[in-house]
Amino acid sequence: MSRLLENMNPQQQEGIRSVDGPVLLLAGAGSGKTRVITHRIAYLIQERGVPADAILAVTFTNKAAKEMAERVDKILGHTSLAKPMLATFHSFCVRVLRRDIEALRVGGVGLTKTFAIYDETDQQAVVKQALKRLAIDDKSLKPRVALGRISWAKNHMIDPQEYFLASTNPMEEKIAHIFEIYKKELFKANALDFDDLLLETVRLLKSSEETRERYNRRYKYLLIDEYQDTNRPQYELMKLLAGPDANVCVVGDEDQSIYSWRGADIKNILEFEKDFPETKTIRLEQNYRSTQVILEGAGAVVAQNTQRKGKNLFTTREGGSLIGYYEAPDGENEALFISDRIQRYLREAGGQVDMPRCAVLYRTNSQSRLFEEALRRYQIQYHMVGGFSFYDRAEVKDILSYLKLVQNVHDSVALGRVVNSPPRGIGKTTMETLERMALSSGMSTWDAIRRAIEDKLLPARALQALSSFRRLIEDARAMLGPGFAEKLAEDVAQDDDTSLLPEDVEDAEADVSFGFGDPESEDTGANTSFDTSFNFGFDFGPSEEFSTIAAENSLDSDAAHGIDSASFNPFAPVVLKKSAGTTTERAAEVKMADEKPAFRKPGDVATLPELIKFLNDRSGYIRALEEEATPESFSRIENLKELANAAQDAQERGETLHEFLDHAALVSDADSYSEEARVTLMTLHAAKGLEFPLVFLSGMEEGLFPHSRTLTDPTGLEEERRLCYVGMTRAMDTLIMTRARYRRRYGSDMPESSIASRFLEEVPSRLVEDLGSPPARPQFSGSDYGSGYGGAYATPYPKANRFDRPSTEQGDQHYSYEDEDQSGERTPARPSGLPGVN
Ligand code: ATP
Ligand code: MG
Repeated sequence: MSRLLENMNPQQQEGIRSVDGPVLLLAGAGSGKTRVITHRIAYLIQERGVPADAILAVTFTNKAAKEMAERVDKILGHTSLAKPMLATFHSFCVRVLRRDIEALRVGGVGLTKTFAIYDETDQQAVVKQALKRLAIDDKSLKPRVALGRISWAKNHMIDPQEYFLASTNPMEEKIAHIFEIYKKELFKANALDFDDLLLETVRLLKSSEETRERYNRRYKYLLIDEYQDTNRPQYELMKLLAGPDANVCVVGDEDQSIYSWRGADIKNILEFEKDFPETKTIRLEQNYRSTQVILEGAGAVVAQNTQRKGKNLFTTREGGSLIGYYEAPDGENEALFISDRIQRYLREAGGQVDMPRCAVLYRTNSQSRLFEEALRRYQIQYHMVGGFSFYDRAEVKDILSYLKLVQNVHDSVALGRVVNSPPRGIGKTTMETLERMALSSGMSTWDAIRRAIEDKLLPARALQALSSFRRLIEDARAMLGPGFAEKLAEDVAQDDDTSLLPEDVEDAEADVSFGFGDPESEDTGANTSFDTSFNFGFDFGPSEEFSTIAAENSLDSDAAHGIDSASFNPFAPVVLKKSAGTTTERAAEVKMADEKPAFRKPGDVATLPELIKFLNDRSGYIRALEEEATPESFSRIENLKELANAAQDAQERGETLHEFLDHAALVSDADSYSEEARVTLMTLHAAKGLEFPLVFLSGMEEGLFPHSRTLTDPTGLEEERRLCYVGMTRAMDTLIMTRARYRRRYGSDMPESSIASRFLEEVPSRLVEDLGSPPARPQFSGSDYGSGYGGAYATPYPKANRFDRPSTEQGDQHYSYEDEDQSGERTPARPSGLPGVN
């Protein structure tokens, strides 16, 4: 028997061996589904002689993809050069689009390969703009609510027009309008949001037969983990990629479907067997992860759901310690109790060979603050997944926005973010004028700046400030030299092997060698492919003023997406311009050049860290922070240095600016998780697929978990219950569930009383051990706190460290649970009530 089939039960073996034709593997938590996927990949390569690069495996998080790659590497050894493609849906789509998106261009109109990826903050900026344009008060309609609905619509593949037609109240109509503007703004900025990455890939593979066939030829074997959480676009993508051969293997567990708010559809599992009639369906029944107590407890909870097929899971790890339950008087005590337990666990388990690992899981991100504080008091190191990841910090986002602008000057969101950061005298009025100008003539803000400078449309001081800003960006672009463009071309050529794209490498090179854009495009941004009949009374069409500007612009720039190739001079510092600069601009340029001469020999190409250092300095960003001279500003400077380190790493990995920015955009919350961390804090959603010897499930309170939004919604409630099942089944040896009798909300003075979560009651009491329930304490007051609580805090707990939160835009958050989305993470919530779209 193949080595790869050893230590596998017969059903797992079948899942690994059935490589011809579609396979659906449905099984409960911890039954080895992911293990079947990794072994199947190795089996294909080793036993069936399938070329590694004919295999595409898709998972939900970068971490899972990385882990899969490591496991496969381990099984195969580092022998083969070619590697299977192990990606997330999003990272795979980015690759496809970076290569092929231009196949979607019609008549020179459409996005180019240099598209930007907009994250949540960028998206919010666009929505805020739209609200302003529509004169909607952002208190009556919160941007994140609007964004949530837009995302929901996208994930159900509903466009603005359809949304408008389906809307039954003025609020929904407004959202349709916002959606329309949003879509156009992203198009104008040559940008895609996360949902678009999927949608555009689907559109591409549907509309371009040539492209689809090329991918079908390339990827003969397709594997998808966590299939129960695929949404409509992901499902369509899977079908398009599976092609006619359909050697596709999907694995999932309907009891772990926790993303319906993001459009995940359990129907995808049912339809799979319909769409692929020869499907071989395999079920696994042995759980290898958890003790019998944990498995039984979790099974009892999920058994309360009515919408499930039901299945049996058994484990040979009989018995095990009982599920602990601790009822804290308040949230702080809950966090301290957990920290105390962790400290004990680490001490006791420390001597053992296996590295001890544990996780604290919670329903919403805002719960993490108390755990962070408590763990710091105990001086226990932890990793927090989500919430405040490095790339979410304000200063890091600022410098990344500079980089985005360097890459694509028409990225108006990036421009808006940094144009006056640090303050350089470009005020709100100036920006509003420029934005209005851009809007009325369908150009980007960058082009509006250029026009304002050339035609002296603003007061001299504003012009001077704008000129030096423009000069800064152009100098940074110039630093990348002609090599930047060449590297891009190389990447496109190398990205996929040439057998895949015999004919179009040349084209790709020709395209990008001009720099950033498509030099042939005469597209001006107003002339988009959107249906103008769906106009809502806003003037998106070309204005007279626009026509003139368009004519001007087409001479030297692709105003829509091209990123003015002609004014991009590889041999700067002197920047080439269509027309001679105005006197003001000249003066500013001379001044800037005096300040910091940037001599570079022709052909010199700056490295990524050099570019970042240049932007840090020349933008005045670091100087401004130095002048601020607070501990806070110094830690921000540290973060910017850290960003340069990240860029150095990227450089060493051979990444281009594009790839670096893609990486930063794709580092989702779940990725700050590190295998080395002994203690991990994360939301239940982020914990999917992972396992830990010790797991704490905190905040088991009605209204928190299950989430208040689902209390009156049976479907939502069942999803919460599945989430509870996911959380409980992460535990291998020990599971402890906790709740607080009083919990502070909205940063209020008076904590509110809570009711125990119904999920607690669903765990049979014979499986539960009561870990105590200390009496309520009127006030939090130092070291006598907790004495007598079962010895948990018998000694004064360690001295508090300064609670040193990373700076973020949101500041220290006290947001309500209502403000958070279904996952407790950043993606906004599912809206209700659109008819005909479920
Ligand atoms: P989830 O539903 O949580 O994603 P899963 O079904 O993907 O779980 P895996 O993560 O693949 O399960 O496996 C759970 C654990 O059981 C892992 O530690 C894995 O190594 C182990 N395991 C799986 N199959 C076997 C087996 N046949 N022999 C020994 N250990 C196994
Ligand atoms: Mg798994």
